Amino acid sequence: MINLSRRAFTFGLSAGSAAVASSLSLHAAFAQGQTQGQTSSTTQEQAGHAKSLPPAAQFKIGRFTITALADGYADMPFGYFPGRDAKQVEEMANAMAMAKPGGIRFVFNQYLVDDGERLILIDTGPAGTLGKTGRLPSAMEAIGVRPDSIDAVIVTHMHQDHMGGLVAGGRQNFPKAEVYVDRRDVAYWTDPAKRASAPDYLKASFDISAEMMRLYPKLQQTDGDHQIVRGVSLVDMTGHTPGHIGVHLEDGGQSLIMVSDMLFPVVHPAATDINFVFEQDLEAAKAMRAKFFPRAAEEKVLIAATHMPFPGLGRIISDGGKMRWMAAEWAYQDL
Ligand SMILES: [Zn+2]
Repeated sequence: MINLSRRAFTFGLSAGSAAVASSLSLHAAFAQGQTQGQTSSTTQEQAGHAKSLPPAAQFKIGRFTITALADGYADMPFGYFPGRDAKQVEEMANAMAMAKPGGIRFVFNQYLVDDGERLILIDTGPAGTLGKTGRLPSAMEAIGVRPDSIDAVIVTHMHQDHMGGLVAGGRQNFPKAEVYVDRRDVAYWTDPAKRASAPDYLKASFDISAEMMRLYPKLQQTDGDHQIVRGVSLVDMTGHTPGHIGVHLEDGGQSLIMVSDMLFPVVHPAATDINFVFEQDLEAAKAMRAKFFPRAAEEKVLIAATHMPFPGLGRIISDGGKMRWMAAEWAYQDL
């Protein structure tokens, strides 16, 4: 019988594993991750190899069940934020421990809204056209939702990271969905003259827009504020793009506003005069933020934002006029 140390007991070694420990040194046993009762190879596998799951966060707003999913992420260089130089943006990111070697990490969040009758998907991710993405299909599969069960897709604006999933592989990936997009974005992103004068990094968004118009000929072009079903309304948030919209969900005295690219990590909401390189009209984007941030802070509205750390849920909080992002609780919210 070996003499187990106090340390061994604190790690929960059972009598069974003591037999194993007698033929190994205790140190080696710990190094192999053996804890209580893990003497068979099966249990060792379970201990060392947890199955990886796609991120998913589910919460309720009134009658709506909302599931946040993610298509992946891409790191945006510090120099992609007009209004500050790369060094200043890197310093801001460092101060928040959010600097990656490639810049600021943008996650691509999508929101699946179930109202009890219909499934509405808000945005579809870049689908492999940017960074490490293309994971929305497996995230949907993990929660048992098939693309052909989606009744509606809301496209908050026609940048590739919000609509890529609709047309990935040159296919109509959501064959039964009504697709909603603002008329001003359709006009902008299907204009050959605009494409011709756009910088190279925006060409993909023009091309994917053309593909979307081809594959979804019945696409519904909306005009600013527009209710699509009871409690689900499109909200005019022009600025980031001409037809940039948010989605307001309201039921049973609860509400959430999905603001898409109103907020980017690190730089927002602390500043309203920092843009993202994809924004063509810097002044319009600044005006959108200058209008929204203080109002959202005053009303403490629950926000979902595409690129904020997963699941992108939070509030804009004002500390004596200084704005900051506060992540919101989403688990066990009914308790
Ligand atoms: Zn975006």
